Amino acid sequence: AKHQGRNRICMFKPEMNTIVQQRLQMEQAIRQGLFSKEFLVYYQPQADLSTGRLCGLEALVRWYHKEQMISPLAFISLAEQSGLITELDFYVFNTVCSQISQWKNELQGVSVAVNFSALSFMDAQFVPRIRTILEQYQVEPDWLKIEMTESILMHDADESLLKMQELRSLGIHFSIDDFGTGYSSLAYLKRFPFGQLKIDRSFISDVYTDPDSAALVRSMISMGHNLGITVIAEGVETIEQLGFLLKAGCDEIQGYFYSLPLPAEQCFHQLQHREQA
Ligand code: C2E
Ligand code: CA
Ligand code: CA
Ligand code: CA
Repeated sequence: AKHQGRNRICMFKPEMNTIVQQRLQMEQAIRQGLFSKEFLVYYQPQADLSTGRLCGLEALVRWYHKEQMISPLAFISLAEQSGLITELDFYVFNTVCSQISQWKNELQGVSVAVNFSALSFMDAQFVPRIRTILEQYQVEPDWLKIEMTESILMHDADESLLKMQELRSLGIHFSIDDFGTGYSSLAYLKRFPFGQLKIDRSFISDVYTDPDSAALVRSMISMGHNLGITVIAEGVETIEQLGFLLKAGCDEIQGYFYSLPLPAEQCFHQLQHREQA
């Protein structure tokens, strides 16, 4: 307590000041990092379970700052709170589109998924910015997938639906990320043009030890199929989990069992040497 004055209310704690300062510093560092291109995009391969082949990639951002690789878990929420997330998301989207235009020959039949925060999606310029970047790099929209969590749809369902329909009509696909962790039912989500649902890692990690998770995963897969959309499981780490998902009829998997997220050059190498249909 610093000034124990007349009114006896003491709001100021020195450690609070430090936290505020650290956040401001980090915010400034993110801004500077965007400017100096310290953000990198890694790509995690996804496999089609019916063929065992690589069928997609998910773009995941990394921050190479002061000679350290920083996970998005450490900066995404700060970027959201400070309003920098939209710049970051579009930086990633731009990088991905530039990459796709260079990998045209090797990417045939492979989709590339990009994560967008709800805040970016809600931005009034979202659709026009996407369009501009697609045109700039002459990217085939059909190769792109936007991953978003259902929280996006809670804010303004009608507005979101319009945006999604507009992008869908261009050819872009949508995937519901972290499915199972939110509150909306698939019946509600059915109103939106999602082509894929992505079962959250938390259900996959104990599918083999927890009968409840196993039952939930089975029902998410059949719900998805009943709605005519494909189902991908994220965070698949073991052969047991893979076996379960194969038996349950899951369409695709992503996770360390199949591949870690890879830097662009390594990803390109995988694309060049993959078996094609
Ligand atoms: P997410 O969208 O659920 O992405 C999957 C996360 O799980 C990634 O973490 C990935 O590296 C990790 N992962 C993949 N396979 C496995 C596995 O087998 N086991 C385990 N334990 N983890 C696995 P990452 O790259 O640290 O990203 C964390 C989150 O940050 C992402 O979760 C996503 O929500 C967010 N994120 C990443 N890139 C972007 C971006 O460009 N924009 C936005 N808005 N968010 C992003
Ligand atoms: Ca994702
Ligand atoms: Ca996810
Ligand atoms: Ca997740």
